[in-house]
Amino acid sequence: MIVQEFLDTNITYLTGVGPKRAEHLNKEISVFNFRDFLYYFPYKYIDRTRFYKIEELDPDLPFVQIKGHIKGYYSEGHGKGKRLTADFQDETGTIKLIWFKGTKWITGNYTPGIEYIIFGKPSVFNGMVNIIHPEIEACGKASERLNSALQAQYSTTEKLKNNFITSKTINKLIGTLLKQIRGRLPETLPSYLVSQYKLIDLHDAIHRIHFPSNPEELEKARYRLKFDELFYIQLNLLRLRSNRNLKLKGFVFSTVGKFFNSFYHNNLPFTLTEAQKRVMKEIRKDLGSGRQMNRLLQGDVGSGKTLVALMSMLIAIDNGYQACIMAPTEILANQHYNTICRLLHGIDIKICLLTGSSKRTSRKSITESLLDKSLHILIGTHALIEENVRFSNLGLVIIDEQHRFGVEQRARLWQKNLHPPHILVMTATPIPRTLAMTLYGDLDVSVIDELPPGRVPVKTMHFTDPERNKVFGFIRNQIAEGRQIYFVYPLIKESETMDYKDLEDGWDTISRVFPSPKYCLSVVHGKMTPADKERSMKLFKEGHAHILVATTVIEVGVDIPNASVMVIESAERFGLSQLHQLRGRVGRGADQSYCILMSSEKLTREAAKRLEVLIKTSDGFEIAETDLQLRGPGDIEGTQQSGIPFDLKIASLGQDGQIIEYVRRIAENILTVDPLLDEPQNGLLKAELERLFSKKQSWSKIS
Ligand code: ADP
Ligand code: MG
Repeated sequence: MIVQEFLDTNITYLTGVGPKRAEHLNKEISVFNFRDFLYYFPYKYIDRTRFYKIEELDPDLPFVQIKGHIKGYYSEGHGKGKRLTADFQDETGTIKLIWFKGTKWITGNYTPGIEYIIFGKPSVFNGMVNIIHPEIEACGKASERLNSALQAQYSTTEKLKNNFITSKTINKLIGTLLKQIRGRLPETLPSYLVSQYKLIDLHDAIHRIHFPSNPEELEKARYRLKFDELFYIQLNLLRLRSNRNLKLKGFVFSTVGKFFNSFYHNNLPFTLTEAQKRVMKEIRKDLGSGRQMNRLLQGDVGSGKTLVALMSMLIAIDNGYQACIMAPTEILANQHYNTICRLLHGIDIKICLLTGSSKRTSRKSITESLLDKSLHILIGTHALIEENVRFSNLGLVIIDEQHRFGVEQRARLWQKNLHPPHILVMTATPIPRTLAMTLYGDLDVSVIDELPPGRVPVKTMHFTDPERNKVFGFIRNQIAEGRQIYFVYPLIKESETMDYKDLEDGWDTISRVFPSPKYCLSVVHGKMTPADKERSMKLFKEGHAHILVATTVIEVGVDIPNASVMVIESAERFGLSQLHQLRGRVGRGADQSYCILMSSEKLTREAAKRLEVLIKTSDGFEIAETDLQLRGPGDIEGTQQSGIPFDLKIASLGQDGQIIEYVRRIAENILTVDPLLDEPQNGLLKAELERLFSKKQSWSKIS
């Protein structure tokens, strides 16, 4: 048995790798030591049991293997285009093999007339199929090829290829390495896990991933390696959480007192949904536990998160603490302020609003009342995390629309107190459960998975630009029935100027089709001052304007029950989650609401799929799941700061949800029994965590 440290051996000690090759491997694919090389996994495999006939070849085929012979060599072109060409023939036809380099070696080693197996990617030049730089093998030799029918393919770079380090070379070098490592590779999982979960051992897994003899074996190897990778990520996250719980004391909110009760019995305008009740229970348990709460609350748009936030704050106030809500935009902060003031009507609680446009005098009085404890609830934007805002006893922080705040901003709120306040992070962007397990793996997660009763599902329809008149007719009828309409235009940072042009053109058309004084239009976009925005919103909110033309600034939080039609222009340019968010702006009243997706006639397959999914379902989690499948986790908002300190080598956060769930449960069970991993059988777990995560501590504070 060799030890982990041996795997740190520099790659130059591998037979066949000199200083030059080592440098290329370092620079191009970050392979520095033996371990790096063993974990440089193939990205795909080619089935070398299949042979093609030349007549079957076409340039769409990825890689092909053909048996035949070389008729003869000749050289073509000159200068840079100088090349060696061979006509290669089987009983069905002839193709050209082409080399730009290493031509002497080719003519010296491969004799016309002898049967060879060639392997490569077909392409077409001058109407003729050819293969550039094919691999060539003598027929006899092929049969003894590593009894590996599936041939591993590794990503390489131009530079590597130019230096003769091809996918095949890499495979060969790894083969050499595996031979050079006499003895078995050290296990990364304790033997009780390996046997309990019926895994193959690491040594075999590494061998088989590079040299699988059949698909079943390969699958077992892949599973074992994914298990390993995902298990340690989960173990690390859960250990962070349990360490925090062991070390940090949280404020104990032991009573539910007069503020909460008075609100609950006198002011609550409806009964809570079952989901809201369940989530409140989870939060109350946290708040009373003596641990600091770090909870993510997920709930689709309109699921009633504000109410949960408010009730949590009332518990804080009942226990003598202050609470705050931080929202990503002024519009949203304003709306929270208004909603909460209305809900708390008649209850003696002092609430203030602090945003970028708060006047100096009101700032001053806010600061004072924060310090003399007369202020109970502060609602605001980023303004809350400014240096000079200080609380005297902040007990609970609520962050709305989590994904718009960076890690650092959250950390600053955290530091507003000597003791860390309880933290509730709310998001309306449903994150697939398994993805959340990694991205927010050290937070507890609550989900409101139920909408308040009486909602009529939004009808979603798709029209293309030529059908615009039909859409206008429909809108005219809706307005005649007293409804209000949103028109939303995409706004993407990179093409802002173009987007505003779209908005302006749209505005021109809409104001022509819906002329004043019969119709009143209002507009909101990001370039307006907060005061102008507020004025426009007010016009619409109070029902004076029939149509609101807007960019995506209205995406979050705007709550206008009478607005029942959402027209999304250039819908193909929006992401799936964003479309879903926008749609959530309607369907808030009792009337039938509509979401109209406008797009051009020509759509990419992915865009068409997005629109199709949206029409089919209104379940935010299903949509998020599809989004994840379509785009992969890297593109989903917020995941860039996910904080996995290394690239995943084999597992995928998008595709391997089931394994993630599975290994998380396993990790949870282990930590329940042995929270510090002090038991002898868990020594290896501790050592591996140390090896994998110790150098990269900074990411650990997700919230
Ligand atoms: P979101 O989760 O998107 O923040 P809100 O908190 O804004 O949702 O709630 C959406 C709407 O649903 C609000 O008008 C709110 O008053 C209403 N609402 C919340 N909870 C309930 C409930 N239990 N029953 C009926 N309506 C509710
Ligand atoms: Mg909300």
